[in-house]
Amino acid sequence: MTPGAGSAFDVAVIGGGIIGLAVGFELAREGARVAVLERERPGTGASRAAAGMLAPGHEAGTDPVLYELGLRSYRLWPPFARDIEAAAGTLTGYVGRGIAVVATDEPEAAGLRERAEREGAVRRLRWLPPDALPPYLDRFQGVRGALVFEEGGHVDPVATVRALAAAFAASGSLWTGAEVLDFRDEPGGPGASGRRLAAVRTPWGEVRAGTFVLAGGVSNAALSARLGVALPVIPVKGQVLAVQPPPDLRGFLDGQVPVFGNGVYLVPRLDGRLLVGATEEPEAGYDRSATLGAITRLAAAAQRLVPALERARWLGAQTGLRPGTPDRRPLLGPLPRYPNVIAAAGHYRNGILLAPLTARIVAGLCAGREPEFDLGPLDPGRFVTAPGSDHSMPGPCPGAGKGTAGSEGADTVRKHQWRS
Ligand SMILES: Cc1cc2nc3c(=O)[nH]c(=O)nc-3n(C[C@H](O)[C@H](O)[C@H](O)COP(=O)(O)OP(=O)(O)OC[C@H]3O[C@@H](n4cnc5c(N)ncnc54)[C@H](O)[C@@H]3O)c2cc1C
Repeated sequence: MTPGAGSAFDVAVIGGGIIGLAVGFELAREGARVAVLERERPGTGASRAAAGMLAPGHEAGTDPVLYELGLRSYRLWPPFARDIEAAAGTLTGYVGRGIAVVATDEPEAAGLRERAEREGAVRRLRWLPPDALPPYLDRFQGVRGALVFEEGGHVDPVATVRALAAAFAASGSLWTGAEVLDFRDEPGGPGASGRRLAAVRTPWGEVRAGTFVLAGGVSNAALSARLGVALPVIPVKGQVLAVQPPPDLRGFLDGQVPVFGNGVYLVPRLDGRLLVGATEEPEAGYDRSATLGAITRLAAAAQRLVPALERARWLGAQTGLRPGTPDRRPLLGPLPRYPNVIAAAGHYRNGILLAPLTARIVAGLCAGREPEFDLGPLDPGRFVTAPGSDHSMPGPCPGAGKGTAGSEGADTVRKHQWRS
């Protein structure tokens, strides 16, 4: 759809990746007049490159906040997928059969066994010794046992974004080629602290809205900096390769359970492809090129785990920039000093998993509803300093909560009724 100059909406969402589209879809079905402004085409950012795993237990590491978020969102996925598919008439590739982590040496096996004993009841995971491995691991080599998370699954992110874009476009305004180039703000009004974003400028003209959502993936750092608020969104390049496995890996494909092991993960797609991921390259900055070194390392690690992959047919590589944050938690909530700008940013390795919950949280904030749980640990203001501040990703272990200073606008989001 092409916009007309001076268009006005209840909510304008900047960015048409999985996060912006999920937020738009949720708002539109609540009856809001909403536009998603995408500078290229939907899903041209990180969402296109993702493996699509829904792995709350494994990805959260030791961070209880991330685990709680991931689990809540994971449980929203089945109805979310159903609703998108019904509205779009195409599939998301959702499968919820769990996630497995295999050990390939004894110290690793001991660590996973110990984790199962410690967390088994809480995170619904169990340890399977080598003589009790499921059939989908038959062609894996040297496996000393597997940790299986019951609550886990995967979707096809490309299919999901395509379906979400169609589902959203049925009731909202999806603008492509609509890069947000600039902002027009104004004083917050009598008695209000902070300022108010009045409009954004795009090549199609100015777009006015009551509330704006920042959902530009790694571009959220630059977008927020233009408002004088430096959100610490850090690009973390990831590369994934796709192959057509040989027929003797049918059992693994039929299992439809993503498997982590030997430093890589293998994700079976419903269409018969197999993804091998992924690199973590924060040093690459904003470079998105696929590199031979990374792809050969992923391929070699996957073949050590599953030797039959030597005969897999090469399909291609996909790369993307994960929107990282210093504590690996997303930035969700009003921007400091701008109560009518909601950040939906920094989903790092889990934007696909967290899309349904993010959509629900952001739609609630836009409508002025009380959040269902404490959003303090996700407050976009928790790291905010001056534009240009240096932020970097922490080491491999997820950081415990950093400061959670409240943002100025958090208590000033208005109660709002969308048109009936
Ligand atoms: C290799 C890899 C594997 C991954 N695997 C998984 C996984 O298995 N599970 C999981 O949950 N997550 C995974 N992720 C993470 C996930 O992909 C991201 O967290 C998620 O895609 C972020 O979505 P987003 O919508 O915030 O950003 P994006 O998908 O990057 O979308 C942002 C959009 O905003 C647009 N935009 C930017 N600036 C502007 C502007 N000024 N005006 C208008 N539009 C703008 C961009 O064009 C883009 O389309 C993976 C990521 C990578 C790279």
